[in-house]
Amino acid sequence: RNRTARPTVLIIGLGRFGSAVAETLVNQDVEVLCVDEDAERVQHFAGQFTHTVQADATDGDAMRQLGVGQFDRAVVAIGNDIEASVLAVITLVEAGVEQIWAKAITRKHGKILDRIGATHVIYPELMMGQRVGHMVTGLMNDYIEFEGGYAIARTYAPPETWAKTLGESAIRTRHRITVVGVKRPGDSFTYALPDTPVARGDELIVAGTIPDVERFSSLQA
Ligand code: ADP
Repeated sequence: RNRTARPTVLIIGLGRFGSAVAETLVNQDVEVLCVDEDAERVQHFAGQFTHTVQADATDGDAMRQLGVGQFDRAVVAIGNDIEASVLAVITLVEAGVEQIWAKAITRKHGKILDRIGATHVIYPELMMGQRVGHMVTGLMNDYIEFEGGYAIARTYAPPETWAKTLGESAIRTRHRITVVGVKRPGDSFTYALPDTPVARGDELIVAGTIPDVERFSSLQA
């Protein structure tokens, strides 16, 4: 097993999703081994990601030769070819990779990935669609949803909070919402304290259950 302080991550598939994951890891100085069956893709990313290999992730022998069993974490970023995605996950499960993050394009695809042993199933389009659905109303400027019905949103401070401190407006007791950060126009976000003042035009980062966050965000003028 790979026991270095910084984890090395195996990434299967260098499409839009996989290459974005790889880039984010490389920017954090995390080593990555990227695998793609497409020679052109491999060529394209070879300079950017240190270890980029051309191989078919559904080929168990080829994967074993690459030593995929040495990795604690892998990301299967094959979306459109569901067969290949499923076989790649099976190969990694059989090789003993502990944490497997796999991209699913439909709920059925995700259900299969979950059943065969992917530890984290990601639905990029579904997740982004939900976010846009919350942002397109103009009531939220950003939105992230968590499992278990919880969400965090960036929204304008509603009129009832203007010219008061957070303590005075008692948002948590009145709306079951926790304010995490406050932003003056032109300033950066600062963390929220009971004596943090809020003014018209400020933005808030708020956390709570999805319906509470939706309701609170709709209070703005
Ligand atoms: P995205 O929507 O993120 O671009 P795609 O599904 O279009 O995702 O791309 C997936 C990537 O995975 C492509 O670069 C493709 O060459 C690669 N890929 C597909 N099947 C395999 C496989 N069996 N082995 C390795 N790489 C694969």
